[in-house]
Amino acid sequence: MLIVMDAHASPAQIADVCRAIEQLGYVPHAMPGPTRTAIGITGNKGPIEESQTLTRFPGVREIIRVTSPYKLVSREFREADTLVQVGAAVFGGPTVAVIGGPCTVESREQTLTVAAHVRELGAVALRGGAYKPRTSPYAFNGLGEQGLRILAEARAATGLPIVTEVMDVETLPLVLEYADMLQIGARNMQNYPLLRAAGRANRPVLLKRGFAATVKDLLLAAEYILSEGNQQVVLCERGIRTFDDSARFTLDIGAIPIIKQLSHLPVIVDPSHASGRADRVIPLARAAIAAGADGLIVEVHHDPLHAQCDGEQALLPSAFAQMMDECGKIAAAVGRTL
Ligand code: PEP
Ligand code: MN
Repeated sequence: MLIVMDAHASPAQIADVCRAIEQLGYVPHAMPGPTRTAIGITGNKGPIEESQTLTRFPGVREIIRVTSPYKLVSREFREADTLVQVGAAVFGGPTVAVIGGPCTVESREQTLTVAAHVRELGAVALRGGAYKPRTSPYAFNGLGEQGLRILAEARAATGLPIVTEVMDVETLPLVLEYADMLQIGARNMQNYPLLRAAGRANRPVLLKRGFAATVKDLLLAAEYILSEGNQQVVLCERGIRTFDDSARFTLDIGAIPIIKQLSHLPVIVDPSHASGRADRVIPLARAAIAAGADGLIVEVHHDPLHAQCDGEQALLPSAFAQMMDECGKIAAAVGRTL
């Protein structure tokens, strides 16, 4: 259920309604919007019988029943697009935000080199994994805290905020010491304890769609994070498994306008993991912007042949420059900037 407050409702009136919701044994979630505040209610099993009492509170405009299974992430709850700010980067606004960087932090030299390139070419955040979820237990699985320290150094050198993956609840406190944005990867999209812990962390989250997850699964996973109080979530379409194995994954471009209709959260696209090949990354990136994505996350390496991880799909800085140029034109064609 959603309580829509009057545009001029005072903070005290909003607080009174929240208190009344708590007294009824439910959880209030105040969501300030550009014109008015809405208060979401969770914790109820069905229609709230006492809703009539809540209508009588000063400042309450109307009460709306939310019919979707996800509530806080839905457009029904919040009509306006949510903006997620990470350093100077904003996801969900008129500017398409691009995150660039290596798949994984391999060394100080490699990370600083790639960071300088992507910054120069217009990326607004740096990606790089210190904890890598690898399909094989024998593959390189990241430098751990040393990798986080290198990322912090790259941030100091470039000014770019850092986006890095957290794989489990145990390492979350350590990752929080370094990351500007927590990445929850496709393989962990349904790690519910991790989602809840990220929901309690005061840090933006990049939530990647699991490769066998429906849009509804993704939105419900995001709901876990919002239900713990963290509204700073960016969703990411990164390709799913279908009957077709001609690409590493199948980029679900159609999911972008669907998610934008169903949810107020920003959605970005990862054309690197979807395609699995550098020569197919740029067309997918172009398509993502044309379809309304709020940003991209793209793997870049200055020496892909010697990359420890995902070298086949890493763009050289020159290709990243081309991608930025082409996507900039497409962004302009759909009324945005890059
Ligand atoms: C990544 O972005 O480094 C990654 C492992 O992606 P995904 O979780 O989408 O496979
Ligand atoms: Mn990768």
